[in-house]
Amino acid sequence: MVEKILANLEKSSCAVDNTFLQAVSEVLHSLTPIVESDPRYEMNGIVERLVTPDRIIQFKVQWLDDQNRVNINNGYRIQFNNSLGPYKGGLRFHPSVTTGVLKFLAFEQIFKNSLTGLPIGGAKGGSDFDPKGKSDFEIMKFCRAFMRELHQYIGARTDVPAGDIGVGSKEIGFLFGEYKRISRNYDGVLSGKPYAFGGSLMRPQATGYGVVYFAQEMLKEELQETLDSQVCCVSGAGNVALHTIEKLQFFGAKVITCSDSEGTIYDPDGIKLELLKSIKGDEKRQSLKLYKAKVPTSVYTQKDDYPEGAHPVWSYPCFAAFPCATQNELTKADAQSLIRNGCIAVVEGANMPTTPDAIDLLQEEGILFAPGKASNAGGVAVSEFEMSQNASMEKWDYDKVDRKLDELMRQIYKRIALTAKEYGRERNFVDGANIAAFKRVAEAMILEGV
Ligand code: GLU
Repeated sequence: MVEKILANLEKSSCAVDNTFLQAVSEVLHSLTPIVESDPRYEMNGIVERLVTPDRIIQFKVQWLDDQNRVNINNGYRIQFNNSLGPYKGGLRFHPSVTTGVLKFLAFEQIFKNSLTGLPIGGAKGGSDFDPKGKSDFEIMKFCRAFMRELHQYIGARTDVPAGDIGVGSKEIGFLFGEYKRISRNYDGVLSGKPYAFGGSLMRPQATGYGVVYFAQEMLKEELQETLDSQVCCVSGAGNVALHTIEKLQFFGAKVITCSDSEGTIYDPDGIKLELLKSIKGDEKRQSLKLYKAKVPTSVYTQKDDYPEGAHPVWSYPCFAAFPCATQNELTKADAQSLIRNGCIAVVEGANMPTTPDAIDLLQEEGILFAPGKASNAGGVAVSEFEMSQNASMEKWDYDKVDRKLDELMRQIYKRIALTAKEYGRERNFVDGANIAAFKRVAEAMILEGV
């Protein structure tokens, strides 16, 4: 049945849907045994309904730049599934954004949100707008124009967007301001807001910290290992990467790499986080060449000099690797080099950063592989904590949020490890995550009827 659904989907999809098909194919292959063991899933058309978004909203965003020239971008919101709760998922502002990319991200979000055990459905949105090189004023004008369209589709109990690549608390602040002006509602319609107007403490750190809490639990349970004194490679230099590095260093690990879309830094003495934050923190988007200029003993490799199909960020000996940049950034060639260099765990901080053939290879070689929908769920979990605080007009302190996040990440690990075991796929955390997430969503879909 699963093969038939996949074939139909491939037939009806176009080229921009590649990443969406990749995400669906991985999930459906994990689900084959469970879907075939329970006739209710077929009777209720669960899999077909699950791979079809509830709605795809597309709109025009027109705005004036600092020279008063008219600019036009595409805006999107994909509301994929709200069986477990209001649609929930980030907004991505990046030139690579298409409906295909957002369909993949929204689809993954359903499963990620289900794994948190919290009442949130799956969605994603964004624009092909490129914030790089834009003034704060231009970013504000774009955000306001974007919200002028988006506001009619969202609401604190309908759909709650948040940040993703290119959207941090500054952009969320501008979006919230415009939503409030139009709707006259001061409610939790967006998460990741600045603390001054309803944001949760620790939301900016949550995804990265959560990744490390997950890794810690997995390493402890599977290998009786800790991160202390271990060498780690991290890719990316955005919000997720910065906070992953921060927490890894807190637990005594030595992080030797980071990267952006133009190049890679290798610092054999360990990444200087304060310097990196001064270049990349708060969506600053400056070049990593500045890091090299300040730390002459580090090595900067320009993207044009990367070997075919491989990324230098994964070419150094390390204990664990944390891909925190973007989709399909860790290839089979990278996996080969990590294995050769003694890496024992890959923990995804980004969404689907590892290609399917790389995952297969890592798993065949017995490397612990944590899929992003489990290991990076800390961000959306703290978004839900923010929704809770907004709804009850409360403010939780830092320790409370941190404790709840740590506990939730450990629970996700336990849930997927147990599920994998139960279905005879011990240590296959991809299957464990997909099956555990599916069961919760499918049950809700059956109970609510068609
Ligand atoms: N964009 C983040 C993710 O990929 C966060 C989503 C949210 O907080 O709603 O999970």
